Amino acid sequence: MRTRFAPSPTGALHSGVVRTALFSWLLAQQSNGQFILRIEDTDQKREVEGGVGNIKETLRWLGLEWQEGPDVGGPYAPYLQSQRLEKYKQVAEELIAKGLAYADPYTPEELQAFREKAQVEKRPFLYRDHRPESPPKWDGSQALRVKLEPKDWSWDDAIMGKVSMGPEMIDDFIIIKADGFPTYNFAHIVDDHEMKITHILRSQEFLSSIPKFLATHEILNWDSPVNATAPQVMDETGRRKLSKRHGAKPVLEYREMGFLPDAIVNFLALIGWNDGTDQEIYSRQELIEKFSLDRVQKSGGIFDERRLVWFNGHYIRKLSLDELYRLSEKFWPESAKAYDDNYRRAVLELFHERLKFLSELPELTGYFFSDPKIDIEKLTDSQTDETAARKFVEATIAELGESDFSEADLEQRMRGLVDRLATKPGALFKVIRMGVTGSTVAPGLFETLHVIGKERTLDRLKAL
Ligand code: GLU
Repeated sequence: MRTRFAPSPTGALHSGVVRTALFSWLLAQQSNGQFILRIEDTDQKREVEGGVGNIKETLRWLGLEWQEGPDVGGPYAPYLQSQRLEKYKQVAEELIAKGLAYADPYTPEELQAFREKAQVEKRPFLYRDHRPESPPKWDGSQALRVKLEPKDWSWDDAIMGKVSMGPEMIDDFIIIKADGFPTYNFAHIVDDHEMKITHILRSQEFLSSIPKFLATHEILNWDSPVNATAPQVMDETGRRKLSKRHGAKPVLEYREMGFLPDAIVNFLALIGWNDGTDQEIYSRQELIEKFSLDRVQKSGGIFDERRLVWFNGHYIRKLSLDELYRLSEKFWPESAKAYDDNYRRAVLELFHERLKFLSELPELTGYFFSDPKIDIEKLTDSQTDETAARKFVEATIAELGESDFSEADLEQRMRGLVDRLATKPGALFKVIRMGVTGSTVAPGLFETLHVIGKERTLDRLKAL
């Protein structure tokens, strides 16, 4: 299979778009085919600076390498549509020569008048009702329209199954704009044909355009690639399409937050696809082996970021401590810079099981690197008043002064203290945890004190 991802560089890639790219990539890998990256930069007004760079960086970060396309080249280079204008013009000229395309002679005002007239007469506005009898010679300064005859279309969509649409879906659409650039509708047909694409995965918003595409293939005497329409990616409410305005972040923002590419790929693959079991964790290789278009569902899949967070936690736990340490490098709080690798590794180890993404590190680990400001009042609650809290702190300072600060010794001494103070472990440990870390949600108390070390633990307790 030769599949392609053909984004327009109009903004940072977000998850909905990348999910469809992933499906294309999986198909190409599993069939030992090629996954082609083509940049559809024909709408210059909507193009954003850095758009192409963002596309390449996002795919590379996720490990969705392309076998043909920008930077890597290939037999159908160039892969940027703005560098292929001659090709579209050539196909357009062929259509003109066959009487199948014509220069649009109308001004925007004239077209508006036709539209209004149709509205008054309560009939649909169609360009083909206004085909000029003798169109002007196309000199590149007018828009060029293709001449398509209306008819019913039925086709097999590899995901949606049999689809049928009526003749109202067909009209004479613009193939080359007055600015000399082709439209998406035309350029992708020319490119997919020349690039020998076998399967086109598109998002659902293009479904109603497929009759136009098929009709254009027909007049060009070209076979259409297989069309596969991926179900919509919905936001977490399940009611709205995921979009920049509703729930979609640029994928590279997840990199900044310390998500792992494998977690994102696994998560995205399951939006709208399953292999018929309730398996959730798939390695890349497994996805390549098991993915199939006939198990992609027809209805929308939900993008639930909480689920992504769960996947990421799973993939973090699967890393070795060494790998996690390497990936964490740029996520430490500023204050951690003053500490050596061994100390930071020991801290990280305490969080390996519970870390959900790496940018949580500063908030979770801050008290390992700088002394929290703690007021004695924070140590009190309905069970423990200030006098009791002070007593716990004093007793702990005395007891731990004798400790070698191994976890086992800390545990033994603290449990002994619970008995001597005739209190409950929960009450004493809560006070000491808060007194040393300023937090109620630290990892286990003994391991935390062990890592923070004797001197600093005692200093912090004495400062209360
Ligand atoms: N350039 C189109 C877009 O970004 C691509 C659609 C397609 O895959 O054919 O929406």
